Amino acid sequence: MLANPIPWPDGARCAVAITWDMDADSGLNWYNPDRADNLVASQSQTRYGPLIAIPRLVKLLKERGMRQTFFIPGWCIETYPAAIDALLSGDNEIALHGYIHERPNELSAEDELYWLQRGIESFRKHIGVRPRGWRAPSFAFSKHSLGYLIGEGFFYDSSLMGDDVPYRLRHESGTLIELPCDMALDDWPHYMHNRDFRTMMPIASPRRAGEVFRAEFDSAWRHGALWVGVWHPFVSGRLSKLDAVVDLIDYMQAKGGVWFATCEEIARHVQALIDAGTWQPREERLPLYDSPIPALKKR
Ligand code: ZN
Repeated sequence: MLANPIPWPDGARCAVAITWDMDADSGLNWYNPDRADNLVASQSQTRYGPLIAIPRLVKLLKERGMRQTFFIPGWCIETYPAAIDALLSGDNEIALHGYIHERPNELSAEDELYWLQRGIESFRKHIGVRPRGWRAPSFAFSKHSLGYLIGEGFFYDSSLMGDDVPYRLRHESGTLIELPCDMALDDWPHYMHNRDFRTMMPIASPRRAGEVFRAEFDSAWRHGALWVGVWHPFVSGRLSKLDAVVDLIDYMQAKGGVWFATCEEIARHVQALIDAGTWQPREERLPLYDSPIPALKKR
């Protein structure tokens, strides 16, 4: 069914990248700047991520010999150094997720660049290298984002949803590998219920969310696609939901033929195929539009 199937390493049927967006209370502060200091229950809900879920996840991944990708805002890197150290001790990948969960496409072009560079500065200071991967907070990738990310030396993005396999984003200044995800694999719409985030989803049972994740995986496996889970430690790191995550990993491992990889490993695989001339990704030029399209205006 795929128009441009990608060869995965060692003949794997599909690739699985389990990724975690460790937002902690960054977004709570950004979205409620005048009152987040007084939202103590929501602080406790979101800080569960770095304080409780991350040590649990690090232990789980070590036991299973797995490494995963954690997209983290610069402010969280500064605020929760013990969580960062624990992730790095497990050789997990850390990629950038804004500075304080700002939404780039709600900012001026100048402000977007300011927060991006502040996030990079924090990443470099605490982790010692420049970030290679990016996911826009709230998937809020702007029409300026691609040029900024290329300018800052990023290697891949995982914010967009335009294909079933990796593709390439082209800008007048260069290219970036895109590792697409999908809202069905995000835990937020299944579980997130919090007035302070203006998100009041009816809370799904982990079994129900797990069914959705598994259906997406079965089709990725059948057709040779990329499966990117977008989960949050303070959401899917809680007991019953993490049990469902473990069950899903067991199911994937039992099925076999799955390449479990970090996002950077997948992007490197794509680049190696391009360099060897064995596979070419589909390409999309961005931005699609510089301004609202003329058809929106009355004649
Ligand atoms: Zn996030």
